[in-house]
Amino acid sequence: MKYFTIFGNPVSHSKSPLMHNRAFKTIYFNGCYTKYLLEDGNEIIKKFKSLNLKGASVTVPHKEKAYKNCDEVRGIAKEIKAVNLLILEDNKIIGYNTDAPGFMEAISDFEYKNVLILGAGGTAKALSLMMPQAHIVNRSENRLKYFREKNITSFTWEEFEIKKYDLIINSTSAGLNDDNYPIKKEVLEKLFENAKYAVDVIYTQTPFQQLAKEKGLIVRDGSYMLVYQGVLAFEKFVFPKKIDKKEIAKSMFEAIKL
Ligand code: NDP
Repeated sequence: MKYFTIFGNPVSHSKSPLMHNRAFKTIYFNGCYTKYLLEDGNEIIKKFKSLNLKGASVTVPHKEKAYKNCDEVRGIAKEIKAVNLLILEDNKIIGYNTDAPGFMEAISDFEYKNVLILGAGGTAKALSLMMPQAHIVNRSENRLKYFREKNITSFTWEEFEIKKYDLIINSTSAGLNDDNYPIKKEVLEKLFENAKYAVDVIYTQTPFQQLAKEKGLIVRDGSYMLVYQGVLAFEKFVFPKKIDKKEIAKSMFEAIKL
């Protein structure tokens, strides 16, 4: 039996155990995935070892501590400077980030050119590494510094002029625990008139998703990003076994509906 967990604080809400345990069953893999409430992120590697883990997911607020404390960081995690996945490889604990690659996998069937990302927090930074052509618009100016230093086109609400974008992404937390839109409703309505796709990083229904549906767009909520970052993590958990990503995504979607 191989052991896995998700480290977070809080962690009781996490759907990752349901997703991964269901996927283990799907491919007859002898694995068990639990949740672990970790208070001190500096303890993450010590805990990984004492729990005798083969792999672990890392969620809020420990992604930066995992990045700093693992033996080696690979791939996009080096640029994002945050790790959401730890894997034991040749007695070393390797850190990866599958959040942004998972997002890209979740929209791999979309055909788009111009992209607008609403918000400029950690998620927007990670997504803009995968889509450097995307424009950013944010409520306040402070968080735009990072994007401007990288020559990524970015605007505050006041500076922003509406143009045609095929894909609009909500990477803000607006609508998570309130009825807010991630940008003024009138602006969003105009953006949606010319867009094909609206993608939200929030799993629950939001005013952003509701308006996009009313305007006839193809809409994906945050469960797609959640599932596909999970599929990419799962691929590493069961390596060298080969997986069919579509089959694993299907079983994970079924699991999160439970
Ligand atoms: P950050 O705290 O780093 O950034 C939050 C961003 O949201 C800022 O740009 C902030 O703007 C903006 N914002 C917050 N409230 C509003 C509002 N009412 N109107 C407009 N803009 C607003 O957050 P993260 O990037 O870490 O996370 C963002 C969301 O992504 C969260 O809801 C999180 O749950 C979700 N998420 C989902 C994942 C998935 O797998 N589906 C994975 C990771 C995150 P300002 O600078 O002006 O404050």
